[in-house]
Amino acid sequence: MKVSQEIKQEANQYVDEVFQKLQVQNPNETEFLQAVEEFLPAAKLFFAKNPHLLEKNIFGQLVEPERLISFRVPWVDDQQQVQVNRGYRVQFNSALGPYKGGLRFHPTVNASVLKFLAFEQIFKNSLTQLMIGGGKGGADFDPKGKSDGEIMRFCQSFMLELQRHIGENFDVPAGDIGVGAREIGYLFGMYKKLNGMDFGVLTGKPLLYGGSPGRTEATGYGLVYFVENLLKDLHEDFSQHTVHVSGSGNVAIYAIEKALALGAKVLTCSDSDGVIYDPAGIDVTLLKEIKEIKRQRLTAYQKNRPDAQYFSKKSVWDLPFDFTIALPCATQNEISLSQAQNMVDHGLKIIVEGANMPTAISAVAFFAQENIYYCPGKAANAGGVAVSALEMAQDSQRMIWNIEKVDQELSAIMKNIYQTCRDTANAYDCPNNFLMGSNLASLEKVAFAMDSQGIV
Ligand code: NDP
Repeated sequence: MKVSQEIKQEANQYVDEVFQKLQVQNPNETEFLQAVEEFLPAAKLFFAKNPHLLEKNIFGQLVEPERLISFRVPWVDDQQQVQVNRGYRVQFNSALGPYKGGLRFHPTVNASVLKFLAFEQIFKNSLTQLMIGGGKGGADFDPKGKSDGEIMRFCQSFMLELQRHIGENFDVPAGDIGVGAREIGYLFGMYKKLNGMDFGVLTGKPLLYGGSPGRTEATGYGLVYFVENLLKDLHEDFSQHTVHVSGSGNVAIYAIEKALALGAKVLTCSDSDGVIYDPAGIDVTLLKEIKEIKRQRLTAYQKNRPDAQYFSKKSVWDLPFDFTIALPCATQNEISLSQAQNMVDHGLKIIVEGANMPTAISAVAFFAQENIYYCPGKAANAGGVAVSALEMAQDSQRMIWNIEKVDQELSAIMKNIYQTCRDTANAYDCPNNFLMGSNLASLEKVAFAMDSQGIV
């Protein structure tokens, strides 16, 4: 359908006005505003093509969370001192199904960070084609340096309140930064004590009781499957590439493992204290032992691999080494414009995001200008939530699938997400623009679902 200039202008003005109002209402929510701002070009194209939705103010409804819950989390530390943190759950959009999205425990957590994550989650979940809406939650609690007993008491207190707001057909949390299988276990234990054995209320559970094989690996493996599909279209494979990864948590570890298995050279990983550069390739078995079993800092890696270099207080994206693929897997806004310039100067061709919104808007624009293949997290890291939804399916069937079946499903879902983003970008006349492709494909589904459910 050919869109007239007049309709284009009307759609542009409408989307700009919604965003201006949002800025006035949420002046200090920089991360949330950034996530919405990144969405504006796609929204303008979409509403120009669907002007009948303008009068329903679908975008205005879409940028306001259905519900934001904030609560006190008191707990007792090992010195018998009473500590208090702030907990949240953002139930952003349920047009496609129950709210679904992880819990983050990190001192930087606030309403803005969780609204940005929940907003992204709506579109990520839509891309998986599974019936799940978007949510996110967490607390400004820092698990680093806490004893096991302190973590357990915190999780129990957090769940004492959260349990009022979740349910397997209503809102199903999972893990994120600072929330892994240990924390999910403690959260589930408290939920069960209060409400009975309700397997489907949390995902990322241990395999012993209702967890899915492959959930731990899913985000990192899925990320690499996404890249594999892109490389196939470019008639290349991983063996031709040198990969830099940031982070050394759940997503980073399994992205490294799968990229190595597919023949890539993976040379870096990091934590918030510094970076490891291992010219012989990251030893992922050692990395897992340090991070998953011993819960140590990355300095321990270098002690075991004397040829590796450790750069204290640096980011992976500052390093002076050549590479072609970047997989940022740590946190939001870890890549600034100057770091993006450094990456391109050192040979970057493809960046695929494992973390949510790791790239600043100015850096995204720079990658586009340099014709770098840029693939946003909402598409590329959707493997985690996809396997979480498969966990929900297994829980409701009271069955456990084998790892091969889960991995096959994950691989098919990531292929479908990749192709949907690519084909939607082409259909809207912006080839190779995976940001536009992912935003438009997911917005189409969510907006039409909201429209059909009326103004609620
Ligand atoms: P983890 O807690 O397992 O690991 C996070 C990693 O990132 C750690 O190495 C951590 O270092 C580092 N990191 C965190 N914050 C910062 C910071 N401010 N500066 C530098 N490094 C930092 O989390 P995940 O691996 O689960 O999550 C990583 C990213 O992937 C997040 O953006 C998350 O939202 C996203 N994601 C995760 C999914 C999942 O299934 N887990 C699904 C989809 C997206 P340190 O230990 O020093 O803090």
